[in-house]
Amino acid sequence: MLLASEEVSAESRRKMLLEILESEALYPHFQPIVDLKKGSVIGHEALIRGPAGSVMASPGALFQTAIENNLLHTLELLCRRCSLEKFAELKSEGKLFLNISASLLGTPEHTEGFTSDLLQELGISISDIVIEISEQHPFDQHGLSNNAVQYYRSMGFQVAVDDLGTGYSGLKLWSDLKPEYVKIDKHFVSRIDCEPVKREFVRAICNISKVMGCKVIAEGIERQEEAEVLLELGITYGQGFFLGYPSPEPQVSWCKLNKPAPVASVENLTQFNNAETALSLLRHTPAIAPTDTVLHVSEQFNAHPDLASLPVVDQGTPLGVVRKSDLLELFSTQYGRALYEKKPAARIICEKVLLVEAEMSLVEVSRLVTDQDNPSLLQDIIITQDSCYLGMGNLRDLLKRITELKIQNAKYANPLTMLPGNVPINNEVERLLEQTEDFYVAYFDLNNFKPFNDCYGYSKGDQVIRLVGELLTAHAKRDHNFIGHVGGDDFVVIFRSSDWKMSCERILRQFDDEVRSLYAPKDLQNEGLWALDRQGGRTFFPLLGLAIGVVHPDPYRCSSYHEVAELAAMAKKEAKKTASSSLFISRRRCISLPEEEAGEQRKDEVFSDAG
Ligand code: C2E
Ligand code: MG
Ligand code: MG
Repeated sequence: MLLASEEVSAESRRKMLLEILESEALYPHFQPIVDLKKGSVIGHEALIRGPAGSVMASPGALFQTAIENNLLHTLELLCRRCSLEKFAELKSEGKLFLNISASLLGTPEHTEGFTSDLLQELGISISDIVIEISEQHPFDQHGLSNNAVQYYRSMGFQVAVDDLGTGYSGLKLWSDLKPEYVKIDKHFVSRIDCEPVKREFVRAICNISKVMGCKVIAEGIERQEEAEVLLELGITYGQGFFLGYPSPEPQVSWCKLNKPAPVASVENLTQFNNAETALSLLRHTPAIAPTDTVLHVSEQFNAHPDLASLPVVDQGTPLGVVRKSDLLELFSTQYGRALYEKKPAARIICEKVLLVEAEMSLVEVSRLVTDQDNPSLLQDIIITQDSCYLGMGNLRDLLKRITELKIQNAKYANPLTMLPGNVPINNEVERLLEQTEDFYVAYFDLNNFKPFNDCYGYSKGDQVIRLVGELLTAHAKRDHNFIGHVGGDDFVVIFRSSDWKMSCERILRQFDDEVRSLYAPKDLQNEGLWALDRQGGRTFFPLLGLAIGVVHPDPYRCSSYHEVAELAAMAKKEAKKTASSSLFISRRRCISLPEEEAGEQRKDEVFSDAG
């Protein structure tokens, strides 16, 4: 393969492209698209790369050579397949933005590689794909490509107009296609904080987007000042080197924007506690069948005077509720009782209830309630398991529990990371043991933190601690996992998700990448620094490392959180035996073991390095 620095003839480039297509040597990179307000990653744009170091490394060179040799469609289809396959393999969350050459849309092959069969096979949902169409490419003015775009939309794909402002027909494209997203080209973003004219352009784009009901993504954000102006103008999403570089693995990147001060909102609670579920609201309530008479319903209310509604369930499937107030109102009319007594309960059913699965976190439930236009209509919550009726919950219990959680979190949160501290961590472990749930505990601790703090000062030290908190939140906050900050540089994640190991490995990798930016060039070059050790002697300390000890406590044999904490501390101690980042997985599942069993368990212990 020819190197980038060499002069290359058109013929050599053609050969190289053929070789690349033949061996499928294409390597998609993924650049994060970030919600500027929340700092969260909403998806990634796939950007193709040829073999690294060769003249074909950039998409520009690849596509130019393909156009010259009439191979655009072959290249395009291969790019698409490679990007989709890699995205599926990495199991990345959020949306995938895919660049599609507009000219391909006009050809009969345009649907190839986008069949629902392929996506299904890869486990990618159509609604997670956003097709980016650039106005830099010639676009059919007479409806052919427009039809193709409409075809994709009818299948459920979303559409983005890319590079808005660089071509000649961007506004036309925008008004014709009515895309879900437009991406403002980096020309308007670069130095927007210093150039008032660019600011006015972006403001105008923002106004149009509001009328069109379209989301705007600003491309090419390279500096914090640019991000700040864009946020001020009301731009929701951004992409650019400041927020994350294109990389072979999608980052669930923590965002470097200054986040607003934490407020005790339900949103904010997500960060704290995803662990408690709708199950905690469950009240066993007798159900009535849709064919039961209204008289029977009335008798049930008499028998259970504390109930304000009764669920109507047909062979396990909940249909709604009958409210006591509705029934009383009906019976209070002149012939109401006589008219309705013998009628089936189905006649007076109210379907405006919230159905939630027992597994759903309380935070999600409360979000569903607050998302309703009129939450007062949702006094009742029906809790289901695999869609079958389990019991009822009510709004009052939900509010009470959420408020208690907020108070608990605020009281015990670590002020540096706002993550829950020891008390909520221990409560959570205790709760899982009581319910004999399966869970893993990962204990995180920094290596070489003291000399770093001594050399660079406490403020830089705080930055490292915040970085760890942010990485844990970015990589582990889902599926009822629980993230806690024990104190200092010690963190705990209680994993309920099965991919805990992958999450830990991602945290380690990203930590090793990100932490380097906190060092002075001299220390980076030496891969460490000289500082005084605990005995006062000058010693060389390698760069900061993150040690993770993981245990899988046996809920039948651990009697309290103390034992789990001890197991986790032992695993962490093992992980800390290496100076660099490492993951130690202990097979020891309880503290007190018969001697021979203990030996067996220790043999199984696994040690794995970060790299
Ligand atoms: P694009 O779709 O507008 O992608 C954004 C380009 O801006 C990418 O360049 C990205 O690396 C670059 N970029 C992102 N943030 C910044 C920033 O902060 N500053 C600067 N200066 N640049 C930034 P890249 O990867 O070289 O791609 C160039 C173009 O090649 C893309 O422009 C897209 O039109 C095309 N392309 C890339 N991959 C594919 C593909 O798989 N299929 C098709 N049809 N086109 C592709
Ligand atoms: Mg693009
Ligand atoms: Mg673009």
